Amino acid sequence: MPAWLDQRARLTPERTAVISGMERRTFAELAEEARSIAAKLAGLGIEKGDRVAFLMQNGVHTVTLIHGVTRLGAVLVPLNTRLAPREIAWQVEDCGAKVLVYDQVHREKAEAARTGTPDSGVNMIFWQQLLQQREMGIELPARVSLQDLHTIMYTSGTTGRPKGVMLTWGNHWWSATASALNLGLDPHERWLAAVPLFHMSGLSILIRSVIYGMTAVVHTRFDPVEANRAIREEGVMIVSVVGTMLTRMLDELGEEGYPDSFRGMLLGGGPAPKPLLERCAEKGVPVFQTYGMTETASQIATLAPEYSLEKLGSAGKPLFPAELKIVKEGQEAPAWQTGEIVVKGPNVTQGYWQREEATREAIRGGWLYTGDLGYLDADGFLYVMDRRKDLIISGGENVYPAEVEAVLLAHPSVADAGVTGIPDSTWGQVPVGFVSIKDGADFHENELLSHCRERLARYKVPIRIHPVKELPKNASNKLLRRELARWASQGEWARR
Ligand code: ATP
Ligand code: MG
Repeated sequence: MPAWLDQRARLTPERTAVISGMERRTFAELAEEARSIAAKLAGLGIEKGDRVAFLMQNGVHTVTLIHGVTRLGAVLVPLNTRLAPREIAWQVEDCGAKVLVYDQVHREKAEAARTGTPDSGVNMIFWQQLLQQREMGIELPARVSLQDLHTIMYTSGTTGRPKGVMLTWGNHWWSATASALNLGLDPHERWLAAVPLFHMSGLSILIRSVIYGMTAVVHTRFDPVEANRAIREEGVMIVSVVGTMLTRMLDELGEEGYPDSFRGMLLGGGPAPKPLLERCAEKGVPVFQTYGMTETASQIATLAPEYSLEKLGSAGKPLFPAELKIVKEGQEAPAWQTGEIVVKGPNVTQGYWQREEATREAIRGGWLYTGDLGYLDADGFLYVMDRRKDLIISGGENVYPAEVEAVLLAHPSVADAGVTGIPDSTWGQVPVGFVSIKDGADFHENELLSHCRERLARYKVPIRIHPVKELPKNASNKLLRRELARWASQGEWARR
């Protein structure tokens, strides 16, 4: 295919590609800046296939860097800015990055990571310094091959050490086109990226922007008031959110809703608590519930808009080019039976960077075994239950922590909740809950327990609920249930 950004700049040069705060760029301007960055990186000795990592906050500069790296044919390695220096050093070494670009905000962290990688030979360069580099007079590739590697993106590390997911141009192409085939495309489309650009959710917005010719509105950090303003006053039509973001946007929304031009919230990244979806339905806020992971280059299944009420709580059907099935004990499971979600499609990764064993374990016979549990209803709609590793089996019954957490979260005094299993001599395992309490509210274990008893089968009700200041989260703000299990087994919660 013709090099994407240049092609877009030829087709619709004057359209706005990106807006962030006071800054904006047309596609023509963005393409020129990306070309310049590519030539500067070439001047640093970067060639096609070399890995270039970045540690930068959301902004136009990051958008430019992302396109500059890929314009050269180098492989983009987005680093989560919330990682500790050691974790950054590990990822940089693992992918063999030649260069790491950081911005002002992450100067210190990059310096600290540098001392953690004395032998890796990575060249760490400050963004402003990169801008001052000399451009090398090379001819940039006029075409891209869909088989070539575009990104190595590390998983969030919720279930173990992060793995570098290899994503090709083709994976991204199919992800973007499949999404448009499902959600449709408005000629004036504007998509808000208040999620980090180093995550699949954020990066995929930039890729769609180039392929669709749509404007990406990029927020430096998520602020519910600003996000609502972008929808109400700045023509944003779609917003990518995770559950906690959506909750905060609704809290700020007040009585007046969103304008009719607003198409919806693309909600993914983790379990979508049913009470949250019901609240959206009541307020008339359209939500596209979606299921996906780094390995699938964002969405693999999304609930089509016309089913959003009828199939509330479902993550929908696979996108057009993708397939999805439920596998239980090696067999494809019939409707309503819970098993592992297994997917296939041109947006799905070929494997993990230099992790042959992990790749062989995850991808079997051309299908990706996601490690997530779910079921299909009789109409083929997917319901995601939880991660297989977190399943609690109590007296032979399955308890999905996410379901219990959703009930705890629905209590007005609960700010955040986590559930894990502990060994039990009678039942094998029993659930225990951890909650953090909202400011000004009080913790009453008995009240929370009866709240659960009213809403859950007996075996799902936690045997104890512990108050904690904060729940253990990883750099992607995902709950670390393995850490909760450790707290529970060592009585460590008492000190939290
Ligand atoms: P790691 O693979 O390192 O443990 P991770 O799986 O959290 O980290 P991501 O790729 O960022 O890394 O997250 C994808 C995961 O998020 C999915 O596998 C699934 O567990 C969860 N998830 C995504 N969408 C949904 C959804 N709609 N409902 C429930 N869980 C979801
Ligand atoms: Mg994962």
